[in-house]
Amino acid sequence: MPTLAVAAAIFRSSPKLRSFSSLSKIMDNVTPPKPGFRAASSFVYDKAFVNGEWVAASSGKTFEVLNPANGKLIGSVPDMDATDTENAIKVAYKAFQSWKETTAKERSALLRRWGELMVENKEELSKLLTTEMGKPLAESAGELGYGAGFLELFAEEAKRVEGDIIQTPIKTRRLLVLKQPIGVSGMITPWNFPSAMITRKAGAAIAAGCTVVLKPAEDTPYSALALCELAKEAGIPPGVLNVVTCSRDNASQVGRALCESPLVTKMSFTGSTVVGKLLLQQCASTVKKVSLELGGNAPFIVFQSADVDAAVQGAMGAKFRCSGQTCVCANRIYVHESIYDEFVQKLAATVEKDLKVGDGIAPGTTQGPLINKKAVEKIEAHVQDAVTKGAKVVCGGKSKGGNFFEPTVLSEVTGDMRCSKEEIFGPIAGILRFKTEEEVVGLANATSSGLAGYFYSRDLGQIWRVAERLESGLVGVNEGVISVPDAPFGGWKESGLGREGGRYGIDEYLEMKYVCMGGLN
Ligand code: NAP
Repeated sequence: MPTLAVAAAIFRSSPKLRSFSSLSKIMDNVTPPKPGFRAASSFVYDKAFVNGEWVAASSGKTFEVLNPANGKLIGSVPDMDATDTENAIKVAYKAFQSWKETTAKERSALLRRWGELMVENKEELSKLLTTEMGKPLAESAGELGYGAGFLELFAEEAKRVEGDIIQTPIKTRRLLVLKQPIGVSGMITPWNFPSAMITRKAGAAIAAGCTVVLKPAEDTPYSALALCELAKEAGIPPGVLNVVTCSRDNASQVGRALCESPLVTKMSFTGSTVVGKLLLQQCASTVKKVSLELGGNAPFIVFQSADVDAAVQGAMGAKFRCSGQTCVCANRIYVHESIYDEFVQKLAATVEKDLKVGDGIAPGTTQGPLINKKAVEKIEAHVQDAVTKGAKVVCGGKSKGGNFFEPTVLSEVTGDMRCSKEEIFGPIAGILRFKTEEEVVGLANATSSGLAGYFYSRDLGQIWRVAERLESGLVGVNEGVISVPDAPFGGWKESGLGREGGRYGIDEYLEMKYVCMGGLN
């Protein structure tokens, strides 16, 4: 009898069989499938997903996806363009006409099942995520849990979309407020959270009764496509979720097609501030509702009264998670002058003891590769710039070959260095000194970003003052990792528009309608 390995090999060698339903037919012949069981390769799809089907680009072009840990080819996926995107938009528009008529209870059940399938297949999805993105397996599993959490949350929130009846100033009238799905929602997502950034958006949209056309990042299309298969298996109808894959070369035309289409009434983007601003301009042509989750430059402040050991642990999570490649990563670590040397020494010792650089798939790895060579070059340039301007390398500081970079602690960092002024997006902890609360809050806010901020203090008055004065959408007080599906996520200033997650996330996909019923004698 053929083994599962043989079945997987048949699957790998036959492009026509690259869909779960085809694979499961092979599997059915060789072994009774266990509920939720899949072979590792069953989540690698080499087609985009439109109208519930696996489709190629109309041009027939594809692009390659590489494993950032070793540069090896994972596979190729369709390199779609504006024409393919317009087709997917039409599909989503048609599907919207029936999807918006479903009840919240129906949508809720499907979303819940989609989330359950993510959890049931967490192990294989984590391997896939690590293979294309690089983060350690444990972090990938964490992202899958976080991502599934949004589907669970929005399955619940779908049923809580309520309107209002307003007190009427005119006796013959009754005034009502309805909340209705906004329509086809375009989405563009980044590579650093290739699964959770999708469910955070698509979960809310689908719960509200909207349909979706989503473009994942060039580096990480596979996690997006795997989610499509699970959505299909959960029973989400064709056309409700569509994923258009494309290379970096085609990203601007696909983005423009989404932003400028009159059939798309909502655009949601997570990525860099530069691209966010461009998309916002493009959306102006059709006055779309826009959500933007953009870059950050998070301050992490350690006050004199802080528990230094707890602050070190908090900084480890806030700085080195995902090798420093999250939008909420601590970017500028301000430490009170009285505890500066102690904090620097303890942080460097913890980095050297606890962090292990390597392929995210290997057991024990805590620091995977950066996403590509360009990212490594940027981090090298940051270190060089800081050292030239007077910073000291306490540990790390060098590339380790390939896309790997040593987790790095820099002391004597000042505000004029690139690592203080720009989003680092890599494993460099730059530590600055401060003297007073007023001074450090001013410094923390002196940036055009306003996504996350963190501080450690045991002074209750100071905790309230600083939490209220930090100009950011998220504040961690004595905590370094604070994102949960249940809380609103989003930035102030140039870090974005709108909120995702929590009970607020669904509002981004709803329109309000005032209905006046007159002639009521
Ligand atoms: P990015 O270059 O802006 O890319 C994000 C997405 O936009 C990718 O899908 C990318 O496609 C696409 N894109 C790039 N240029 C485009 C264009 N001209 N038109 C349409 N789409 C375009 O950002 P990134 O470097 O991948 O991600 C890192 C950034 O995202 C950081 O600034 C980080 O802070 C931010 N981020 C923010 C949040 C948040 O919630 N606030 C969460 C995660 C990340 P390609 O991949 O094909 O280039």
